[in-house]
Amino acid sequence: MTTPPEEAHASAATTHFGFRDVSLADKQTLVDDVFHSVADRYDLMNDLMSGGLHRAWKDALVTAVSPPKSRDFALLDLAGGTGDVAFRVLAAGGSATRATVVDINSDMLDVGRARAAARELAAVAFVEGNAEALPFPDRAFDAVTIAFGIRNVPRIAAALSEARRVLAIGGRFLCLEFSTVDVPGLDALYDFYSFNVIPVLGRLVAGDAEAYRYLVESIRRFPPPESFAGMMRTAGFARVSYRPLTGGIVALHSGWRL
Ligand code: SAM
Repeated sequence: MTTPPEEAHASAATTHFGFRDVSLADKQTLVDDVFHSVADRYDLMNDLMSGGLHRAWKDALVTAVSPPKSRDFALLDLAGGTGDVAFRVLAAGGSATRATVVDINSDMLDVGRARAAARELAAVAFVEGNAEALPFPDRAFDAVTIAFGIRNVPRIAAALSEARRVLAIGGRFLCLEFSTVDVPGLDALYDFYSFNVIPVLGRLVAGDAEAYRYLVESIRRFPPPESFAGMMRTAGFARVSYRPLTGGIVALHSGWRL
């Protein structure tokens, strides 16, 4: 059974927080609570939960961004949290590559700033802001990325429209997000792992089983990849495509501003 896009099965003022229906405003508050709670352990939990696979998924994203070695390149990483994607793009690009991380959560950004300082990285800026209303001028960035962030944003359509607005003409939007597992056998295993193992890991490592139960549920409520591709087209992106990774656990979505 396919799930229609988030906006299509929520009334005007409600959406989902995991398996619960909540108001759009409440969703952001609840999401903020989750990431305030887990910020310090967020990166460690990513490695533990995914068995390190999130690194390979982010590498696929960075390969698609393909930052140039010898000319200016400005990346905006939405919902960029602790800076992981930005750091990887800076490492792959040349000395004229710059990255801006936007996130609504000050605790996630603080962890990111500390990580950047430890690496002596000056080419990255951390900005507190909402992906639904970006504090940047039109056409300011060569690429816009969002990794495991879009399903947390209450108004997905607004965030997609903003991502397109701040992209330069000819720029690319890339979105890495959990998706729909389409390999028989893997789906049952994945369900078992998600609902039984991840909340226990969340409790033991991050001290918050509920936060990780939300993460698992939010993955199930996110639209399947074809529906999300439709939302990207509606937002005005051109040449929209997606690629399933690891049997569909994750999908890498792509669209261009032309
Ligand atoms: N992109 C990072 C990564 O891949 O490691 C972090 C992903 S984390 C699962 C989701 C992030 O989305 C959190 O840092 C959270 O604060 C952020 N977020 C949630 N709602 C947001 C919004 N409306 N605008 C910007 N960031 C948001």
